[in-house]
Amino acid sequence: MEKKKIIEVENLVKKYGDFTAVKGISFDVFEGEIFGLLGPNGAGKSTTLEIIETLREKTSGKVVVGGYDLDKSPNDIKKIIGVQLQSSGYYPGLNLIELIEMFGGLYNQPVKPLQLLGMFNLEDKAKAQYKELSGGQKQRFSIATTLINKPQIIFLDEPTTGLDPQARRNLWDLIQEVRNQGTTVVITTHYMDEAEFLCNRCAIVDSGRIIAIDSPDALIDKLVSSGFERKKEVKKANLEDVFIHLTGKELREE
Ligand code: ADP
Repeated sequence: MEKKKIIEVENLVKKYGDFTAVKGISFDVFEGEIFGLLGPNGAGKSTTLEIIETLREKTSGKVVVGGYDLDKSPNDIKKIIGVQLQSSGYYPGLNLIELIEMFGGLYNQPVKPLQLLGMFNLEDKAKAQYKELSGGQKQRFSIATTLINKPQIIFLDEPTTGLDPQARRNLWDLIQEVRNQGTTVVITTHYMDEAEFLCNRCAIVDSGRIIAIDSPDALIDKLVSSGFERKKEVKKANLEDVFIHLTGKELREE
């Protein structure tokens, strides 16, 4: 079956004054996949993401999301996407239930706050304020809020930065769960283990250009078939395996 394109980016360019941060990149995202934009800091990942999210003006190029042209129908795009808000948007006086109800009101969507919080293991925190949450809980809540308007696509910008190994793995499971329920996921990350675990396909971005795009498996196979070998013999476990083995997989932050 032909996979359906849900995002099409063609020759996207973004200039900040004299500096060209995004230098004519093109890629497609297919419905139902987890697509990753990988790259070092400053590569242009967030700029690209924010242009697709309608939050930043592009300099040139074509972007189509869910069949809507960014130049003609940005408001239609806004309706079918879910975006993580900056934490400053979480009014300090409101608890998690009230925040979800408020966002539901803004989006004109009926919401079931406890059900949504339950999906993200936050039911115990329903009456807490955002500032009272741990790092992992804050990330889970911010991903939960991207689903309030029942979007076709969600965008996650470095969703696990700063989290401990348990919280990261827990978030990976949740992101897969969101995808399994039918939402296309676009994430940025500079953690390659995260991309290898989560992404169906990824684009490696460097200095504003896509230098490779494929499934993690295919990218690795291509490197290996070129004769590349790791210098050190690979052990059957790594330090993170030791850490998880000793401390367990359970979240500690509750
Ligand atoms: P990434 O998300 O991959 O770390 P960004 O998209 O944030 O990269 O940034 C790409 C480049 O554009 C960086 O060199 C950054 O300094 C520059 N940049 C980002 N935002 C602005 C801005 N508002 N004004 C000027 N330069 C910017």
